[in-house]
Amino acid sequence: MSIDKVQEEVDLLLDERDKLEVKCDTLPECEQDDGCNTCETYKKIAEFDAKIAELEEKIESMMQEEEEDEDE
Ligand SMILES: [Zn+2]
Repeated sequence: MSIDKVQEEVDLLLDERDKLEVKCDTLPECEQDDGCNTCETYKKIAEFDAKIAELEEKIESMMQEEEEDEDE
């Protein structure tokens, strides 16, 4: 898999995450302090965050591998 492909996937996930965040902001239970601790949308956002972080790590290690290749 190329870095561009992974980056594309990150962008898509970020997009979906933003949509969920907007939705989360409009939920009545989320207006209260700590309301998001129990809301389903927020849980999904956390899942997206985890996936995005995973992919970003992947991109970083792929970039490092490319740099190492160039040194040879
Ligand atoms: Zn929420």
